[in-house]
Amino acid sequence: MSDLIRPPRGTFDILPEQAPMRRAVVETARATLEDAGYRRIETPAFEVTELFTRTVGEATDIVQKEMYTFNDGKGRSLTLRPEVTAPVMRAYLDHGMHKLPQPVRLWYASSCWRYERAQKGRYRQFWQIGAEAIGSDDPAVDAESIALLAGILSELGVGGLELRIASLGDPAAREAYREVLRDHLRASEGELSDEVRSRLETNPMRAFDSDHEGTREVMKSAPLLADFLGEEDREHFAEVLGLLDAAGIAYEVDPTLVRGLDYYTRTVFEFTSAALGAQSGVGGGGRYDGLAGQIGGPAVPGMGWAAGVERILLAAEERPEPEPVTTLYVATADESPATRRAAFALVCEARRAGITAQMELAGRSLKGQRKQSDRIGARFTAIVEGETIVLEDREDGESWDEESRSAAVASVLRERGLG
Ligand code: ATP
Ligand code: MG
Repeated sequence: MSDLIRPPRGTFDILPEQAPMRRAVVETARATLEDAGYRRIETPAFEVTELFTRTVGEATDIVQKEMYTFNDGKGRSLTLRPEVTAPVMRAYLDHGMHKLPQPVRLWYASSCWRYERAQKGRYRQFWQIGAEAIGSDDPAVDAESIALLAGILSELGVGGLELRIASLGDPAAREAYREVLRDHLRASEGELSDEVRSRLETNPMRAFDSDHEGTREVMKSAPLLADFLGEEDREHFAEVLGLLDAAGIAYEVDPTLVRGLDYYTRTVFEFTSAALGAQSGVGGGGRYDGLAGQIGGPAVPGMGWAAGVERILLAAEERPEPEPVTTLYVATADESPATRRAAFALVCEARRAGITAQMELAGRSLKGQRKQSDRIGARFTAIVEGETIVLEDREDGESWDEESRSAAVASVLRERGLG
C-alpha cells in the first residue's frame, strides 16, 4: 500500500477504540462546567483572518508562522481557528450576549489548527476543551475558572500537575515594563539568541520562554513585570491568590510566565504535567479585558482557559473503558427473503423499544453468527427462520427482571407472539 494517499503530517485519525477516552474528556468537562453554569457554544472552523491577527497579536508565534490562512473564491482572507477564545468573544458581541445576566459562561470542545513542528503532544490539528466567563472582572471569576480546570484535570487522572500563575497587569503597565526590558536586553544583545534579538522590538517578553543558554543567563537578572503593576492590578491579583488559597488549590507564582497570546491582561496561568515530556503544557489561560475592544466591540472583561484533549490523554492514567453493550443479536437461520425481512423487522422493533440490537450483515453461517453474538457480548440471540423466532438467553435459567432491559426484549418478543 505504498501508493496509499496519507493524511497530512501532524494530523491523525481518531479510531473507534480511541473514541471512548476522548468522549470521557469532553463529558467530564461538560458535566463540571455545566454544573457551574457554563453552556456549550460552537463557532465556525474558520474565521476572517483579522480576528486572529488583531487579537492573538502580530508578533506572536501563532500569527507569524502557525496559521492556516487561505483566500476564498472572492479573495477574502480566512483562517482556520488556531484558538477559540477570540471566536467565542466575537460570538458574544455578535449575538448581543451583553444583554444577558453577566458573566455569560460558555464552554467548547473544538478542533484547532496550527502549523507547528509536529511531534508527540504537538499536532497540526488538535482538540481543545475550553471555558470562557465573559462580562465580569471580579477576581472570583478568575479563581473559579482556574478551580474548574483543576477539578476537570484531577478527575481525569492527569498526573504530576503543577499550576503556575502570574499577573500581566494592564496594557499601560506592560508597555512601560517592555521598554525597561528592552533596555535590559539591548545591554547584552550579543549574548541573545537570533530569535530573541529579532523580536526584541516587537515581543521582548518571549525572551523568558527561550531555552537558549545565553538568553537564559541574561534573563536571570531581567526586571520583572510584577514590579510594574499598578495598585488595582496588584490588589486584583492578591484577591485571586487569596481565593485559590481558600479553595485549597496549590500554585506557584511565576513572574516570568509568558503566554503565547497578546490579548491577556491581569491573571495568566498554566497547568503543566510531569507525566508529559517536552510538551508539558496541559492547559492554560487568563483574563482578557481588552479583547472585546480589539474586535471592535465595547470594553467587556473576560476570563477563560483552554486545555488540549490529546495532552490530557497523554498525561492521564490509563483507565479501562467499558465496551458498548449490545443486548440482542438477531441471527438468521437461512438466507431466504422472508427470514431476512423478519430479522430486519425484529432488529428495528427492538431498537424502537430502546433495546440495543444488531443483526447479521456479513452472511455468516449460523455457527459463525453465534460466535459473533458471543464476541459482542450480546445476552440474547434471536434465531430467525421464516416466521419462527427462537430466543436464546446466555444467562440461562436466570429469571427476567421486570425492570431491566431484558424485560423489554421479552415484551417485544411477547408482543410479536414469541415470548
Ligand atoms: P505550548 O506551550 O505547548 O506551545 P501553547 O501555549 O501554545 O502551548 P495554548 O495556546 O495556551 O498553548 O493552548 C492551550 C492548550 O492547547 C495547551 O496547553 C496544549 O494542551 C494544547 N495545545 C496547544 N498547541 C497544541 C498542539 N499543536 N497540539 C496539541 N495540543 C496543543
Ligand atoms: Mg504553542
